[in-house]
Amino acid sequence: MNRNEMSLEIESDPRNESFARVVVASFMTRINPTLEEVADVKTAVSEAVTNAIVHGYDEGEGRIIIKAVTDVEERTLEVWIIDCGKGIEDIKKAMEPMYTSKPDKGRSGMGFSFMEAFMDELAVESEPGKGTTVKMKKKVGNSDRETDGE
Ligand code: ATP
Ligand code: MG
Repeated sequence: MNRNEMSLEIESDPRNESFARVVVASFMTRINPTLEEVADVKTAVSEAVTNAIVHGYDEGEGRIIIKAVTDVEERTLEVWIIDCGKGIEDIKKAMEPMYTSKPDKGRSGMGFSFMEAFMDELAVESEPGKGTTVKMKKKVGNSDRETDGE
């Protein structure tokens, strides 16, 4: 079986953020990533889950679904971070580097920029009042940054 799929539902609690990223990191081991590629995915998942908690649910109650699919032949990981929170009015603006709707809370507006930098694909779908889905894709084994001689 080339394709493998998982999904995980967690409460919107900052303490679950590290749990979510470790689950995705261990799930992707079957596509044989480098440590650096795993670190990239962990960073991107962290940013997306943190956004769901901080912005989607305004640090209140809610559920976050994390879905992931690996393909061993293509050596790809696709991951979805889904919240049913407040949604995003202007996705294009939200994705601009250094845009944040919470500058007062010490946010720097770099979350989406990190997701874009560390993953190969990033797509955001959102509807105000309904929620947000962040979809990301990572292809492993084709990075010119690989240094571990794989
Ligand atoms: P940082 O990630 O650097 O702490 P930030 O979270 O504000 O700051 P981004 O992660 O780039 O920056 O997100 C940009 C903006 O997009 C947020 O300020 C917020 O307005 C909006 N946003 C992002 N994710 C969500 C979400 N899941 N639900 C609602 N709004 C979101
Ligand atoms: Mg963020």
